[in-house]
Amino acid sequence: MALMSKDNARRLVHGINRLIGVNGATPNLNGAPSVRENSVLNPKNPERFDVIVVGAGPAGSAAALVVARAGLKVLLLERGEYPGSKNVSGAALYGSAILDEIIPNWWEHAPVERFICRRGLAFMSLETAVSLDFRSTKYASPPYNGFSVLRPKFDRWFAAQAEAAGAFLLNASVVDDVLWRDGCVAGVRVRRDAGDLCADVVIACDGANSFLAKKAGLQREFHMHEMSLGVKEVIGLDEPTVRERFQLSGDEGMAIEYLGAITEDVHGGAFLYTNRDSLSLGVIGQISSFVEHRHRPYDLLERFKAHPAVAPLVRGGKLREYSAHIIPEAGWKMMPKLYTNGMLVAGDAAAFCFAVGLYLEGINYAIQSGLAAGETAVAAYRDRDFSAQSLSRYEQYLQARHVLGDFQSYRHAPEFINGARLQNFYPAVVAHGAERLFRVDGTEKRKILPIALETLRHFDIKPRDLIRDIYNAGRAFGW
Ligand SMILES: Cc1cc2nc3c(=O)[nH]c(=O)nc-3n(C[C@H](O)[C@H](O)[C@H](O)COP(=O)(O)OP(=O)(O)OC[C@H]3O[C@@H](n4cnc5c(N)ncnc54)[C@H](O)[C@@H]3O)c2cc1C
Repeated sequence: MALMSKDNARRLVHGINRLIGVNGATPNLNGAPSVRENSVLNPKNPERFDVIVVGAGPAGSAAALVVARAGLKVLLLERGEYPGSKNVSGAALYGSAILDEIIPNWWEHAPVERFICRRGLAFMSLETAVSLDFRSTKYASPPYNGFSVLRPKFDRWFAAQAEAAGAFLLNASVVDDVLWRDGCVAGVRVRRDAGDLCADVVIACDGANSFLAKKAGLQREFHMHEMSLGVKEVIGLDEPTVRERFQLSGDEGMAIEYLGAITEDVHGGAFLYTNRDSLSLGVIGQISSFVEHRHRPYDLLERFKAHPAVAPLVRGGKLREYSAHIIPEAGWKMMPKLYTNGMLVAGDAAAFCFAVGLYLEGINYAIQSGLAAGETAVAAYRDRDFSAQSLSRYEQYLQARHVLGDFQSYRHAPEFINGARLQNFYPAVVAHGAERLFRVDGTEKRKILPIALETLRHFDIKPRDLIRDIYNAGRAFGW
């Protein structure tokens, strides 16, 4: 099991970014600062805040919103030119009801694409796809089950809600370090004129591979098998074509997850989501397997689009966007310590990304954990106690929002999903069995059991291995 040093991890991600042509651009700092910015960033007398939130993704904006609504002075720092400018997701935003709780009927105001009422799961071999297709009218009415969104638009809108509640958003501000006073995190060092900014509580929402969590000694270096790399494209198609190809009416949308040979011997999967007049699709693979099998993510994405089950869906589309990002996929087993004196960690920074094949849910857990972190900071402020002991109630807030419970009960799922049996073996078994089941060639029509037994024999699956695999599947997803 390879443990990556910080430099190696940076080099690898940077190398992959160069390989796939994604530019880790530094923010544009040329815009004239506003009066408020000047006051916050006054190097001689920088403003002090009750809470500083680092990162204006879904976790950071949720945290800032809660803290601002409680009347506290909160600064939301974002390294991008605007929230979402650097952020990458599929993106299917599930758990609409969570947002509805804090912004009633949020979908009427937010830049959403389509509500997702159709979901697919496809097991792929190189020539075949065996799919589960689920559709429900129950997901087609408020508060809906989920929406497809485009992150640059959604994140900007969500951060604006935090601003409207009173948070101060400072873009183009890279946080390089945490500040300590008497063994307590007391603020952050920003790569701008003011440098050091102080607060009673810092909430790290700086995404996967959080430098802040590491600087505060809460997170270890990650193993290469715990992190995946996702490459994604947005492909433009006109609205009627999207509806027709995916059998959708009005604003209905579909989300499909793919497993199997689609990523060749790289452990991972692929996804395809419908937007209003575009598709978001991408391939996700464990960094360790990209390295081991020397595959370029870009090549896998091209092969995915060329698969006979995918090509007709994307035909004629025009590339609008290309992006890449890492994903913390090991869940419970890579979770950092969630708090220390003066600091909390939320969202991907805390590895709250539920990426287990059937589910790819990070945004909803980012929002839930951001809300819990905000609630914890407000409670600590009321008690005027920012010690680790006071902030430890974060775990209760996370439990109340089902974050810790979900990750704990699915703790074996990432390993099972990314294991060779499910990745390289069973999709081919399912494809072979289905191909036999539906073949009509003038020979005897056999029943399901003989076909299943013949398929097991064909792949030389021993009963002992089958029982072990069923047990592992059950442990991951069943009980
Ligand atoms: C290809 C791909 C597809 C995905 N698809 C889905 C999906 O369909 N549905 C889903 O729910 N999840 C999906 N995810 C996961 C989801 O994107 C994440 O779980 C989610 O974005 C986590 O939110 P966050 O706020 O914790 O972190 P992020 O969204 O990563 O936000 C972190 C923010 O912090 C900022 N930041 C980072 N470092 C600093 C710093 N030093 N100083 C200042 N600012 C900083 C960043 O610019 C960013 O705005 C996908 C991920 C990938 C990569």
